[in-house]
Amino acid sequence: MLFTGNGNNLTFFSNSFASPLPIEPYQYKMIQAADFYKYCLDKIQRHPNVFLLKEDIVSVEAADGQVKIQLVNGAELIYENAIGFNSIPNKYEPRTGDIMLLQHFKGWIIKTDDAVFDNGKATLMDFRVSQQRGTSFVYVLPLDNNRALVEYTLFTELVLEDEEYDIALRNYCKTFLQLQDYEITHEEKGAIPMNNLHYPTQINGMQQIGTAGGQTKASSGYTFQFIQKQSDELAQQLKSGNYQPGLKTAKWRFRFYDHTLLHILYNRQYPGDKIFTTLFRKNPATRVLRFLDNETSLPEELKLLWTLPTWPFLKAAIQKRRTY
Ligand SMILES: Cc1cc2nc3c(=O)[nH]c(=O)nc-3n(C[C@H](O)[C@H](O)[C@H](O)COP(=O)(O)OP(=O)(O)OC[C@H]3O[C@@H](n4cnc5c(N)ncnc54)[C@H](O)[C@@H]3O)c2cc1C
Repeated sequence: MLFTGNGNNLTFFSNSFASPLPIEPYQYKMIQAADFYKYCLDKIQRHPNVFLLKEDIVSVEAADGQVKIQLVNGAELIYENAIGFNSIPNKYEPRTGDIMLLQHFKGWIIKTDDAVFDNGKATLMDFRVSQQRGTSFVYVLPLDNNRALVEYTLFTELVLEDEEYDIALRNYCKTFLQLQDYEITHEEKGAIPMNNLHYPTQINGMQQIGTAGGQTKASSGYTFQFIQKQSDELAQQLKSGNYQPGLKTAKWRFRFYDHTLLHILYNRQYPGDKIFTTLFRKNPATRVLRFLDNETSLPEELKLLWTLPTWPFLKAAIQKRRTY
């Protein structure tokens, strides 16, 4: 089974607002990495024309239907009549005005003796945790009535010491979930780039995909769903024999919103918890979710932006470096 937790009851919490979020027709779903890899590898195994090569790569380039891959061990692989796709992160030269935040997190799957979780009822964001370091929240995804993923997430420049995530998770379980006894059955940790860099759609003739292809939303770090959409479009184009090199990234106006919000978060011009509180307090949750998915229409975006504090956003929109 690919999905280990799903439902359509979400709740939002901050110090000034708490509310269930009606999200139908949306559903939240949790996919565990191990299940996802297994699902993909099983599919790959059923296709003898696909092979896995486990090597460290120095460089990749494509020209005139030929793809060249330079390996760390000195070998060079050459493929004729090929199209090159690349998700290896590119080398990055820092420039003034670059904003480099991280969405970093640590999560525990905890198991309790009593049935304390409401399966199908998750916490999307809980901002009642300290905001001292920067925008910080916890989300809780039940797997069943006795188990849930509790994840502490921050939007800041640097990752924390491991122990600091643990302290925050322990505090959250005690203060907000009112749990004293639980077993930690699994831990996960990660850091996703949130930046205002320009991501070219092609580099050295290679179509850039994944985070390297600009599929990470700069203002939230959300990536997985965007990668699925990009891969789907790519697959449709290849299947129909209508592949268009330089597959597009997010629309201009979404990159504009993202970079404006990123500028605000990075320069702490307005607290992130208040921005998300206003968004969810003053808009239908489905509109906010569509916005976070880059799927709103312009009139919907205007309605949504109208609910946000004008001055900090106007100031940030003018101040930020143009990178989109
Ligand atoms: C615990 C965890 C939870 C997450 N939860 C979410 C979530 O809820 N929602 C969400 O949107 N995102 C989430 N993410 C982030 C998401 O997994 C990543 O954003 C996504 O995997 C990026 O995909 P990608 O293909 O661009 O890059 P990657 O998955 O990082 O793939 C790049 C690949 O390139 C390989 N590579 C790099 N350099 C070289 C080299 N020189 N030679 C050969 N190979 C190389 C790497 O080994 C890697 O396999 C999570 C990440 C973690 C770790």
